[in-house]
Amino acid sequence: MKILSVNAGSSSLKFQLYNMPEEKVLISGLMERIGVGNSFYTIKVNGEKIKKEVELNNHEEAFETLVKELEENHVVEDLNEIEGIGHRVVQGGDYFDKSVVIDDDVLSKIEELSSLAPLHNPAAVIGIKAAKDVFPNAVQTVVFDTAFHQTMKKENYLYALPMKWYTDLKVRRYGAHGTSHKFVSERMNEILGRTDTKLITCHIGNGASISAVVNGKCINTSMGLTPNAGLIMGTRCGDIDASIIPYVMEKTGMTAKEIDTAINKESGLLAISQKSSDSRDIEDGIASGDENCILAQKMYVRRIVDYIAKYYVEMNGCDAIIFTAGIGENAIDTRRDVLNELGSLGIYLDEEANNVRGKERLISTKDSKVECWVIPTDEELMIARDTMELL
Ligand code: ADP
Repeated sequence: MKILSVNAGSSSLKFQLYNMPEEKVLISGLMERIGVGNSFYTIKVNGEKIKKEVELNNHEEAFETLVKELEENHVVEDLNEIEGIGHRVVQGGDYFDKSVVIDDDVLSKIEELSSLAPLHNPAAVIGIKAAKDVFPNAVQTVVFDTAFHQTMKKENYLYALPMKWYTDLKVRRYGAHGTSHKFVSERMNEILGRTDTKLITCHIGNGASISAVVNGKCINTSMGLTPNAGLIMGTRCGDIDASIIPYVMEKTGMTAKEIDTAINKESGLLAISQKSSDSRDIEDGIASGDENCILAQKMYVRRIVDYIAKYYVEMNGCDAIIFTAGIGENAIDTRRDVLNELGSLGIYLDEEANNVRGKERLISTKDSKVECWVIPTDEELMIARDTMELL
């Protein structure tokens, strides 16, 4: 059975075509700058990477180009071979606690939730509609970034704010990266050979979040109403004193939109290092003695450690800590700095094992009370698995 995983952004389209249940990737690609001019795409097929510059004016054209590539590369002979298409949607609110087959009601709920994810949900809707036109016979499903976190209890998802904000405005913790937290926690349980586990999953990329997962269910997560909560990220501040915002607005006359840009795009590692949002540049800065980079890394690591410690206590112990995503999988120094802070919990890093990028590996010592692992995430595969299950 062939299943297509789709992740549509406002100007991008990421896709992977799988042969299921073998989970074999037949072709994958990323289309960029859709509708904004100078668009291009890269395709990976048969171990080869091809880049093409083609004007893509909208998502319909992107899907038509995708079909052309599928046919020209002979990964499908007939489009009807693609039985399912799984779409990633960022915000499912409290409507969806799992992946679902798309119908009119589902589509209108995703549209309704756009106010909570103004950059992402509308793009996904455009992608879904365009895919429907191009693949009318495939079953379309949607996989929500928030669904895995819907098992949180009220005491963990509610904010101590006026109750009307929750009942009328739906202000609560939703979390994000759920597909990734689910993927790595399922893989960890597979490795441990049991499902009655307590896990701390650290998805640390440009965006970053940590979840506490008990017996395969999320009980807490660091992102909130939006992704700008919890950890310090590339350009997001994470947790701050909320009163900073009205204070700065009053003092400077900045608008809500300007503040939003500052806390999402001009903060985090970028603000403290005054150099870059990319942890590779921070590593280089530290190596050359840049004081701002050294400070940025200290603050960054501190926040991760705080969340691991918080969830360790909340779960009353932990079987494994998992690192995933761009930084979690590749930043050897960041993993080292984090785990070296956790000795008081009996957690010990194996420095040699930690010398790994992008590969599954145990990185804690034999006598560490908690196993620490690097597990590469694969959100596209999770989407394909959920879609196959729904089919
Ligand atoms: P997102 O999906 O949130 O955009 P990713 O999970 O792709 O982010 O992570 C991107 C980040 O991973 C980059 O900003 C970079 O900081 C980090 N990264 C990637 N490769 C390395 C590496 N070899 N060493 C350190 N950091 C890395």
